[in-house]
Amino acid sequence: MSNEECERVRALLAEHSDGELAAAEAGLVEAHLRTCAGCREELEALRRSLALARQVWRESVAGLERLRAARRRRRAVVMSEEDIERAIRRESVAAQLMASTRILAAQPGGEAQAEKMVQYVSREYADTLAAKQKPLPTTRNEGEIQ
Ligand SMILES: [Zn+2]
Repeated sequence: MSNEECERVRALLAEHSDGELAAAEAGLVEAHLRTCAGCREELEALRRSLALARQVWRESVAGLERLRAARRRRRAVVMSEEDIERAIRRESVAAQLMASTRILAAQPGGEAQAEKMVQYVSREYADTLAAKQKPLPTTRNEGEIQ
């Protein structure tokens, strides 16, 4: 298999993983994956990253729901509508940034940059749920990182 073929397949992996490829294209990707361990690993890494991103997103959305519920319970207005919208935007940005640090950390040589991004999000978005969560260990860790 050529590197060129691998590159073509890797460009399609995200859509393939989401089941968004046309049947013919999906067939080509499947055929390549059967013969190429490198691209199979790439697909696995991608799926893990996407699962993490979705998990962070779900937790963040759950946090926003709690915020809304708390506001509904209190008759006294603690936060203005504007404050709530702003908090929601910050949660969303922070969750997406944190998710991308995890994707980055799974890339070869990406850990250092991911660590910097985690520090940035923790500092700039300290009030968000995403920043308060402990970063998950990357999938390639074999040693101990705490
Ligand atoms: Zn390949």
